[in-house]
Amino acid sequence: MVEVSDVEKLKEKIARLKEELRAVIVAHNYQRPEVQDMADFVGDSLELARKCTQVDAEVVVFCGVHFMAETAAILNPERTVLLSEGSAGCPMADMINAAEVREWQQRYPGAAVVCYVNSSAEVKAESYICCTSANGVKVVDSVPRNEVIFVPDQNLGHYISTQTKKRLILYPGFCYVHHRIRPEQVEMAKRLHPDAQLIVHPECRPEVVALAEAVLSTSQMLRYVGASSHKSFIIGTEEGLLHRLREENPDKSFHLISNGQICTDMKKTTLETVAKTMELRQNVVTVPEEIRLRAKQAVDRMLAVS
Ligand code: SF4
Repeated sequence: MVEVSDVEKLKEKIARLKEELRAVIVAHNYQRPEVQDMADFVGDSLELARKCTQVDAEVVVFCGVHFMAETAAILNPERTVLLSEGSAGCPMADMINAAEVREWQQRYPGAAVVCYVNSSAEVKAESYICCTSANGVKVVDSVPRNEVIFVPDQNLGHYISTQTKKRLILYPGFCYVHHRIRPEQVEMAKRLHPDAQLIVHPECRPEVVALAEAVLSTSQMLRYVGASSHKSFIIGTEEGLLHRLREENPDKSFHLISNGQICTDMKKTTLETVAKTMELRQNVVTVPEEIRLRAKQAVDRMLAVS
């Protein structure tokens, strides 16, 4: 149990280390509230990776999971990128590796590989183009092939396939946090909050997406809720987003579909791990230059169309 005075001491220590390292601290929308509050910027993985390219800092402390810090390293080769907790990974990103992408490419030689940003640098390097949950449809439509191999998230891929004329071949990966939300739980949440609008992330399974009023990425959810005249929302994504939703919309209420909407790896980062990482300058995330350049090409192609 961390006492209030300990929290203040940790925040002071982090602020001091930030000066010493000339660091910027960025945190993903799914991080713990106290980590989000201490960060210089909070956002989705791509927003943060891009933000890092715009700041005057030598060190980037990425509070998130490994592939996010890798994406920051891909875009910021001149900066040192530290991951806030060395063991924080993404089980979905780990469901596919470079050899498997090559194998699928051989199986479907006429198709272009589109990878979700939630993938490792080596998978990005094997892909033609990268996408996020916000720009997936636009990215897939931009690909100069009619067939697309979509990796690794089958649910995001399925959602995109309903919005495009291209034929998508779906790799069977998934995010366990979103995939385990069941339609029965959605029905129950709707009965409990009959006036609430249901907004879900496209990483949810198709049966859940079919029940939603809107299907949105985390950054789109924040904008959608801010602009909406509705007062109550049922949220189908990781529970960490509720912190920002509540802070930015104090007059609105937010409910989760179930109590299982927690990403264990996202919660591994605490103020203690951030302070320790900075103090020891540990968990440096690097990408071999040959992979970085190819992965960057896939990311750059995406940035050019979105
Ligand atoms: S929420 Fe899902 S996609 Fe995001 S880091 Fe956790 S397991 Fe990976």
